[in-house]
Amino acid sequence: MVKNLKKKYTHLLKDYQLIKNIHPILKEIASFFNNNGKEIYLVGGAVRDMLMGKKIHDWDLATNALPGEVTDIIARAGGKVVPTGIKHGTVTVFYIRQSAEITTFRTESGYSDGRRPDQVTYAAGIEEDLSRRDFTMNAIALRLPAGDIIDPFNGEKDIKAKIIRCAGEAAERFNEDGLRPLRAVRFAAQLGFEIERKTLDAVNRALCVCAKVSQERVRDEIDKILSSPLPSTGFRLMEKTGLLKLFIPELEACRGVEQKGFHQFDVLDHSLHACDYAAANGFSNEVRLAALFHDIGKPCVRDIDEAGVYTFYRHEEVSANMSRALLNRLRYPNAVTDKVCHLIKEHMFLYTDEWSDSAVRRFIVRVGEDNLDDICRLRRADIYGFSGNTPDYRSMEKLVKRVNNILASSRAFSIKDLAVSGNDLIAAGIPSGIKMGAILKELLETVLDDPAQNTRETLLEIAGKLNEKYTHT
Ligand code: ATP
Ligand code: MG
Repeated sequence: MVKNLKKKYTHLLKDYQLIKNIHPILKEIASFFNNNGKEIYLVGGAVRDMLMGKKIHDWDLATNALPGEVTDIIARAGGKVVPTGIKHGTVTVFYIRQSAEITTFRTESGYSDGRRPDQVTYAAGIEEDLSRRDFTMNAIALRLPAGDIIDPFNGEKDIKAKIIRCAGEAAERFNEDGLRPLRAVRFAAQLGFEIERKTLDAVNRALCVCAKVSQERVRDEIDKILSSPLPSTGFRLMEKTGLLKLFIPELEACRGVEQKGFHQFDVLDHSLHACDYAAANGFSNEVRLAALFHDIGKPCVRDIDEAGVYTFYRHEEVSANMSRALLNRLRYPNAVTDKVCHLIKEHMFLYTDEWSDSAVRRFIVRVGEDNLDDICRLRRADIYGFSGNTPDYRSMEKLVKRVNNILASSRAFSIKDLAVSGNDLIAAGIPSGIKMGAILKELLETVLDDPAQNTRETLLEIAGKLNEKYTHT
């Protein structure tokens, strides 16, 4: 009896603690539904994150009110409703500078394309709605405003044990929607959870369903893996389950490609270490992508020289070209693809004290001022990936210092920075056209060699001589 009371009391206390953390606006939204005799629950990632003691970022709500009723209830309360996913019974409500997605309880049936349910039917209650959700940790509801937990699949227990497990029979759940296996590996990377054996085993058998998932959705999951604290967790799980070969075969082909020399790992492990380093240091997702793909050309260009040492001539160029094709396939925005491929193409610089000032200036021009920080970040990640140990960055620091000094003393890094313009050359009698383009290029080379030459007088004189030379050749 006392034990039962104690148990009940502990439960009430826990519910109280959860509800205490619910935002007052959310409680107010819930009260509009309760006052109209409707049930409403917080569901999905928000409940999972609350139970993990994390801050919640999105409000996903489930209700037995139909979308039309949701709209009426919120409109009467003075809020706004946008039918963002009305096909799936979802509307987004805006109320006092807050927003929430509200979805009518639903059940899903028939996934003939392996991506989206063919039709959506409304479910009788919250438990049925929870049973269509992917993992036990995502199939928990928090009743509002009472704060009690509805957890038919023991998700809370799995959260405590840090386990990702399908809600229901894994093979069946993966066959319904090929995105779920990728979500499982993404959550494993994001949360640092393990995927339960049966769930993991079911991935390999669902690969033909996964193959139907749109490239955009695959990209979104890859981006979330990259944003996680240890991206290699996700990519290793992808490799283990066959997802890597399916979605990024270029990376999977790097497994077993030995490098020797100062490299301790094969090309795949090297790339994963580099990517983890980029994540651990808070580098952007573009740098993380570049770290992940910077060597994918190596398996194609590997050769062995007379001394028996592996060589990878021009691998940075091949890696950049392959990355372009792969990022296009995954529908990355062009700006991201351009940046990542440029970083990859330029990642092979090796700074020594012998670099002349003009070599440093040419490096700045080649890499581009805006990319200088990122190329150094990528290089650091690459060097870390040789051994997995914190590398010696002293030479990189020296380069950064020289780059900064040069940037502070000279601003002539492109044709538009020259002390003469095309119009000045026309005025000096040089006709516009291919010849003028070549002259401007040579003037820039002169100024990169010696910025002191970047005066109007000197450049006009050099241009005149070049014009004569070109006219006679
Ligand atoms: P995140 O923190 O990344 O937003 P989340 O769990 O909220 O994680 P969402 O994609 O926002 O993920 O989805 C909200 C909820 O909808 C999930 O928690 C899950 O219950 C359900 N869900 C989302 N995608 C699927 C799917 N493909 N199959 C089944 N249920 C899904
Ligand atoms: Mg969410």
